[in-house]
Amino acid sequence: MPLSAQAEVQYLKGIGPRRAAALAQSGIHTLHDLLYFLPRAYIDRRTTSTLRSLTLALRKQERLFEEPLPLAEEGLLFSEVTLVARLEDLREHTYAGNRRMLIGTIDDGSGMRGTIIFWNALDYYRDFLQPGQLYALAGRPTLDRRGIVTFHHPELDPIEPGEEELYRTGGILPKYRLTNTMRRAGLTQARLRRLVATALEQLLPTLSDPLPETLRRTYELLPLTEALQQLHFPTSPTQLQQARYRMKFEEMFLFQLLLALRRRDLRQEQGLTMNPRSAHARWLLQRLPFELTRAQRRALWDIAADLSSGRPMNRLLQGDVGSGKTIVALLTMLVAVDNGYQAILMAPTELLAEQHYHTICRLLEGSELRVVQLVGGQNARLRRELLQAIATGEAHIIVGTHALFESSATYHRAGLLVIDEQHRFGVLQRARLRELSRASLGTAGVVPHVLVMSATPIPRTLSMTLYGDLDVSILDELPPGRKPVVTKVVFESQLPQVYEFIRAQLRAGRQAYIVYPLIEPSEKLQLKAATEHFEELQREVFPEFRCGLLHGQLFWYEKEEVMRAFARGEYHVLVATTVIEVGIDIPNATIMLIHNAERFGLAQLHQLRGRVGRGTEQAYCFLATRDHFRYHWHRADAEPRERLAAIVRLRTLEQTTDGFRIAEVDLRLRGPGDLLGTRQAGVPEFQYIDLITDGDIITRARQAAFELIKQDPHLHHPTHSGIRRALSQRYGTAAHWLDIG
Ligand code: ADP
Ligand code: MG
Repeated sequence: MPLSAQAEVQYLKGIGPRRAAALAQSGIHTLHDLLYFLPRAYIDRRTTSTLRSLTLALRKQERLFEEPLPLAEEGLLFSEVTLVARLEDLREHTYAGNRRMLIGTIDDGSGMRGTIIFWNALDYYRDFLQPGQLYALAGRPTLDRRGIVTFHHPELDPIEPGEEELYRTGGILPKYRLTNTMRRAGLTQARLRRLVATALEQLLPTLSDPLPETLRRTYELLPLTEALQQLHFPTSPTQLQQARYRMKFEEMFLFQLLLALRRRDLRQEQGLTMNPRSAHARWLLQRLPFELTRAQRRALWDIAADLSSGRPMNRLLQGDVGSGKTIVALLTMLVAVDNGYQAILMAPTELLAEQHYHTICRLLEGSELRVVQLVGGQNARLRRELLQAIATGEAHIIVGTHALFESSATYHRAGLLVIDEQHRFGVLQRARLRELSRASLGTAGVVPHVLVMSATPIPRTLSMTLYGDLDVSILDELPPGRKPVVTKVVFESQLPQVYEFIRAQLRAGRQAYIVYPLIEPSEKLQLKAATEHFEELQREVFPEFRCGLLHGQLFWYEKEEVMRAFARGEYHVLVATTVIEVGIDIPNATIMLIHNAERFGLAQLHQLRGRVGRGTEQAYCFLATRDHFRYHWHRADAEPRERLAAIVRLRTLEQTTDGFRIAEVDLRLRGPGDLLGTRQAGVPEFQYIDLITDGDIITRARQAAFELIKQDPHLHHPTHSGIRRALSQRYGTAAHWLDIG
């Protein structure tokens, strides 16, 4: 009788309680678990050989393998030769004083002998290896000085009498993740292979494929059963690749379906149809002292299509610091205004709101449009007056902070919301503002257009997953004439020269930021350290200049006051121990010196550097790090992970100012789970998909998913029942919430 998927591994031949417990430790309880206990690597042992033919080939210096193999680069597939040989003897050898190794002689009856050598785990091998026993031996051979074939740490599977032929036919074999508990319980690679083979044999006939055949045909996907078979026992590297492709595709396809369903719901809402031709926008464009970049025009094109579509816009405008998002947002707001709607711009801090307010007022000077600002701390009379202007619709554009939804403002046909640095607002905060503007539109069920902006570049593959239910426009081009910030890593002993350079720049009228990461444990100590750094810099390094201090113990309004004074030029140098506001625009500040730069994350350093280089003057960024890094610098490959990561971060910044490149390196260093707290943002941990390298598959799976939802919005078609089941299995409550189950 065939065993069911839920049958426990205990019932398999050769599995007693001890082995079952060892397997359970790795999460393998049932036959089904075995099926999905995927190999961590594969060994290509299709080359079976004899000691004689190996010896002759190596002596003639012939190549033993066709290399490079596909997948070899990923460390997933290795070539080895396999032979069946008897262990003749085993001796222990001492070398280099007190070091020891095990040396064995092997014989396969081909007329030539070979040697096997072990340096590690001698106790284990002394125990495990039995002279006289027949082994299937696999490894990569070399010739020793006497011309004898030698294997260093080969893999050896004892062969039971009568099983020789099984091993002589080489194939591609899986290598599973063996734990020490498994090894101690006698679970070898060979044994696991046999267990998995049994599970495959029992379960494959009972499995049904969640993906319908048409989809499989269109996207050239192996059937599930074949994919699983190939994942464990590939018949060729190509088949293995196809099996992996199938699993990756399915995983991403299901996730993209979730996003497509979410978007389907958004799309069903009714939006405002706006005419994108706007007299004010045209007027502004003519007044601008510059041309829009191609990227800005492309984004506006996307936005115009959204605004006139009759569906609510839900667009992310992504662009590096300085890429010119503000103008794009303002032009969009003017379209809304000319269509008779109010436009709201929300920023995460007062300082940013104020800056936007002033920028917009300046750009709209000479027009009859009224721009107002709604922030905290405004006196009651002013506030009353502003609320009045907002409620009557006298105010066309409203810029503000949280006050936009915390005050008792009643909006007047607020048809467009622009949210700057959207990641700094919670979902609820955004929802509240949306609700307010929705209410102001009167007509039941109509939803305002929303444009969110972010200066945190993320790789495209990730944005397709992270913001998968938003449309994305990317400003991947800086305005012309921007000189990239000259960036240099300096060691602490070089600081005097750096300070000299900064003084020269200050004398030429520029301003500088100097940033310290504070690592003191207590707030009191932090304040002390900050003050000490500050006083020392002022006294010893910049006695003839004025320095301002920005530290974490200041209230937010005190911080903003310091920033404002710096912006007015009252300080030459701003010493900061707290992160300088993202988005702050002080073109005259052209120098950034970051102390202990190795302590900052890559994205953080990039954001910090983005504070300079916002004018036409050449800007400089110095990343100061401890002197001993100089020693490690050139041998980066040999360094432990942590330090290596720090070196990679600093080097990357030195080499590029491209935020997307930097984000990609960051993604590699930290893994997607960490970046932007994606887990929190609702992106699952993927088992098969690699968000960095599988961009093509992600694109294809996304296309397939969105296409499917277009054809069958509720997945009601009978051929899609497998997909429904897989969705609710994998995403449970989330899928339920989406009303498909
Ligand atoms: P961010 O995307 O970081 O918000 P901003 O919108 O603040 O960037 O723009 C940065 C600076 O670049 C501003 O001073 C803005 O006037 C200027 N700018 C924007 N677009 C262009 C352009 N196409 N050509 C030249 N300068 C531009
Ligand atoms: Mg900005």
